[in-house]
Amino acid sequence: MQWFGRRESSNTEEGSSSGGGRGFAFGGGIIGIIAMAIYFFTGIDPSQVLNQVQGNGQQTEQVNAGTAGPDNDQKKFARVVLADTEDIWGKLFSDMGRSYQPTVMHFFTDGVSTACGEASSQSGPFYCPGDQKVYIDVSFFDELTNKFGAGGDFAQAYVIAHEVGHHVQDLLGLSAKMDQARQQLSEAEYNKLSVKLELQADFYAGVWAHYEKSMKNVLEEGDIEEALNAAHQIGDDRLQQQYQGRVTPDSFTHGTSAQRMYWFKKGFETGDVSQGNTFKASDLE
Ligand SMILES: [Zn+2]
Repeated sequence: MQWFGRRESSNTEEGSSSGGGRGFAFGGGIIGIIAMAIYFFTGIDPSQVLNQVQGNGQQTEQVNAGTAGPDNDQKKFARVVLADTEDIWGKLFSDMGRSYQPTVMHFFTDGVSTACGEASSQSGPFYCPGDQKVYIDVSFFDELTNKFGAGGDFAQAYVIAHEVGHHVQDLLGLSAKMDQARQQLSEAEYNKLSVKLELQADFYAGVWAHYEKSMKNVLEEGDIEEALNAAHQIGDDRLQQQYQGRVTPDSFTHGTSAQRMYWFKKGFETGDVSQGNTFKASDLE
């Protein structure tokens, strides 16, 4: 992907805590509020590293470069990708007669406190609907290459575009529906719904990639293959096989390798937001 020297988004911040956010608007200081779901990039056991915030978690911290590491090319790259999502989703929303409110990308290292609870770098990048921010420790990009076998800059761009896809879902009202469903469904039922939500985020990442090509003209040879390889490497079936030694479909939360590739590709080939109804699609897709 051609990115060096291109516009970087200014909708970014850094630090170990992200102050405020609508998750706290009604419950600040009250013990036992239910934090909103966090949407992680992969389904690898986030429960071990995720602690829900109990009430008083709202200390605000200003930008603190010391806790988030020095500026580097990985952050520059992330800001360029974010800027492209702003341009592309801005246009697609305007085509739908809506206005796009950009997300904020929050850089952190090790751990971070959010409106959705606390999370560690180990669980990977995620989106928090409670404050509408994308959280990322850019060292994940190295893990993507070394641990997940998904190298290449467009694999990294796919991660960001997937998280921004969750923001798009939030703007379209889906996270609120998911939170409601979470309280009414069994775990297995909710997991099925989660898979559909995640596959739609993959589809939106594919739609974004479509416009990286047709509107921005910044794709290079091999970029789409890098994203598809990443989608393959992080499929629930593949990760479970790798980390647990067995595959339990009832616990899938993000979809199989085949599903993740299918939906990214469909978004990329069509560039048509209206074709991303993963909730209506048959289980075979
Ligand atoms: Zn996700």
